[in-house]
Amino acid sequence: MNIDQNIENIVVFTGAGVSAESGIPTFRDMGGLWNTYNIEEVASPEAWNTHPQRVLDFYNERRLKALAAEPNDAHRAIQLLEEAFNVVVITQNVDDLHERAGSTQVIHLHGKLRNARSTVDAKLIYDFGSRPINWGDQCTKGSQLRPDIVWFGEEIQNFNLAAYHLLKAHRILVIGTSLSVYPAAWLLDFANNHAKKIIVSMDLAQEPDEFKWIRAKATEVVPGIVSEWINSLGR
Ligand code: NAD
Repeated sequence: MNIDQNIENIVVFTGAGVSAESGIPTFRDMGGLWNTYNIEEVASPEAWNTHPQRVLDFYNERRLKALAAEPNDAHRAIQLLEEAFNVVVITQNVDDLHERAGSTQVIHLHGKLRNARSTVDAKLIYDFGSRPINWGDQCTKGSQLRPDIVWFGEEIQNFNLAAYHLLKAHRILVIGTSLSVYPAAWLLDFANNHAKKIIVSMDLAQEPDEFKWIRAKATEVVPGIVSEWINSLGR
């Protein structure tokens, strides 16, 4: 990662809500995906072991929908922060809208929809773009490929790296997460006491200490926060 020691560090920590206005539904909100699907049947190791085709179909559809979506004004504003700060985006999202908005340092905690992963060697990852993963698609070691998604009960990716960046951040902007998905939500406990902290979300399972909560849609307030932070440097 590219870090300039003379510039303030910003962490932008995002959840499904930042992509909601791009047309990708959150899971738990009204009308969210978990009202249509049963979590255990599509997003767990047990589901994969018993009904792999159902799991592949679910994620093949999610992959197509995510790739058809476009970054929104919140994703684009987050990218603009790079003009003035060292910015690391830590996301629970599995879409690639931050990358497509131009953010250059994006850490995914729950995997990426566009990737397929080996079932015998987690380091073997393949970019499938919008292509479906089919039963019979294999890694170079001859094992079945699965979605590169962290399912319920599986270990989160990049936890230590994310904690490191939160510790070093001078400003933290949390967007579109309910803080009800663990262990991702615990990461905010690593935030530096002296950091400036804002959370933008329609709803929260818990209001974290020391954060200013703005209850609003991401596209309505994030561009303003970004302008204010850039202008606060007085350049
Ligand atoms: P979440 O904690 O990410 O919840 C979404 C939060 O966003 C809620 O608190 C909701 O009030 C808020 N929200 C909704 N619309 C908003 C808006 N326009 N602006 C600001 N906030 C808004 O949890 P989840 O949706 O239950 O998802 C759980 C996990 O599932 C995610 O962490 C992710 O791994 C995966 N997921 C990913 C995507 C994606 O990649 N876009 C979408 C759905 C779920």
